[in-house]
Amino acid sequence: MIYFDKVSKKYFDKSVALDNVSFTIEPGEFVSVVGHSGAGKSTLLKMILAEEKPSAGKVFFESVDIHTLGRRHIPTLRRRIGSVFQDFRLLPHKTAFENIAFTMEAAGRAEDEIESDVPHVLELVGLDDKMWNFPFELSGGERQRVAIARAIVNQPDLLIADEPTGNLDPLSTHEIIEIFKKINDIGTTVILTTHNKGVIDKLGKRVITLEKGKIIRDDKEGRYVI
Ligand code: ADP
Repeated sequence: MIYFDKVSKKYFDKSVALDNVSFTIEPGEFVSVVGHSGAGKSTLLKMILAEEKPSAGKVFFESVDIHTLGRRHIPTLRRRIGSVFQDFRLLPHKTAFENIAFTMEAAGRAEDEIESDVPHVLELVGLDDKMWNFPFELSGGERQRVAIARAIVNQPDLLIADEPTGNLDPLSTHEIIEIFKKINDIGTTVILTTHNKGVIDKLGKRVITLEKGKIIRDDKEGRYVI
């Protein structure tokens, strides 16, 4: 599904974020990307979302070379990918329901689909009782669950999560990881970056370890070793 072919990235100030990185992610995999701050994790995710271009090498989404896509095809790529971030990125003046409905409207989904899918996806993340709450009325873990519901409501093939538990306490972290596992079990490919050793060790899934822009480990049932 995702193929990085000898990808390097240098930013304008010449800092090397990725250095000759190659790997493949198959459909349905759950892959964690770990490494110290500055190791290149976010850069790697940005390449998949076509937010940054490689300085060398190619990134493929299925058979499509992402960085040869014309500007008008990029939204089509991004619609196949759901994303979740450390800082939730919810719209503060919209309720949980409205945050999710807004994403569906932007994707051109019909009103009756919105009415049926939003409660369904909130139930999946265990938040159907907070549908009409605003973000400021929710805990960090609950906000992240709304953000995850929003990321999956248009049924993406791939879910990308950049440090999704970075701002959360251990209990909320546990709950969020269980939700990612559930989403993966129903067939969505998941790529997660994290600093959290406990998360990785508990997942028991594939782990790619980055150090200074290079892959130093790629373990099938990885542990956090840095
Ligand atoms: P991580 O997500 O692992 O913390 P990043 O991908 O954010 O790593 O960063 C990798 C390297 O690239 C770091 O040295 C960082 O300073 C640099 N970098 C990231 N984004 C930019 C940018 N927009 N401009 C210049 N340098 C950047």
